[in-house]
Amino acid sequence: TEELLRKSDKLSALGQLAAGVAHEIRNPLTALKGFIQLLQSGTYKEEYSAIMLSELERIELIVDEFLVLAKPQVSNYQPHDIRILLNNIIALLDTQAILSNVQILTEFESDLPLVKCEDNQIKQVFINILKNAIEAMPDGGKIVIEMRTHGVNRILIRFIDEGHGIPPERIPKLGEPFYTTKEKGTGLGLMVTYKIIENHHGSISIESEINQGTIVNVFLPVN
Ligand code: ADP
Ligand code: MG
Repeated sequence: TEELLRKSDKLSALGQLAAGVAHEIRNPLTALKGFIQLLQSGTYKEEYSAIMLSELERIELIVDEFLVLAKPQVSNYQPHDIRILLNNIIALLDTQAILSNVQILTEFESDLPLVKCEDNQIKQVFINILKNAIEAMPDGGKIVIEMRTHGVNRILIRFIDEGHGIPPERIPKLGEPFYTTKEKGTGLGLMVTYKIIENHHGSISIESEINQGTIVNVFLPVN
């Protein structure tokens, strides 16, 4: 029965998530349908195509974030040097960081053990956390990423930003699907991030101070 209960819990969580996704996708779909009807009736305005494109991009963004969750079924855990994965992602986000006037600095302990992980998922985690840090600093600033061993069998990766911070009462909401404070946010990034770290038997904690910045701590087990 316990197993059944757990399964039905999972099912309802999944059902809730599916309902949320359906709801989030329905809005841009309804808008798109309306515009197509306008076009069919012969009404065309220059701005329609821009709005339609942005509604399509919205759907694309939501679907992309969910694909990450769909993939782990065939998991392929291999030992990886997390520093290399992180450096790849920093290079990937370089343009966005420069455009936002954000500097990314790293302080890595010299001999870190390899971590058994699904590299694409861990990269996704780094992208999600770093994007949030960049987005939290609209006037630019600094992100420091520290990596060190923590106890005998874990490593700790800390992402420290100088952004607008998170009100303490909102911290428990982080990782809830669709919780966002951004006009164009999906509120899926942290949910996916928590899920991936949970799959890796790691954990996340977030500390924040308004107008001072936020620290995201990611703990990962080593072999
Ligand atoms: P999104 O980025 O689409 O809003 P996320 O799940 O990535 O969704 O983040 C959820 C919310 O958590 C954000 O909207 C923001 O309010 C808050 N948040 C996450 N990371 C940070 C950060 N580094 N600084 C400030 N707020 C953050
Ligand atoms: Mg985000």
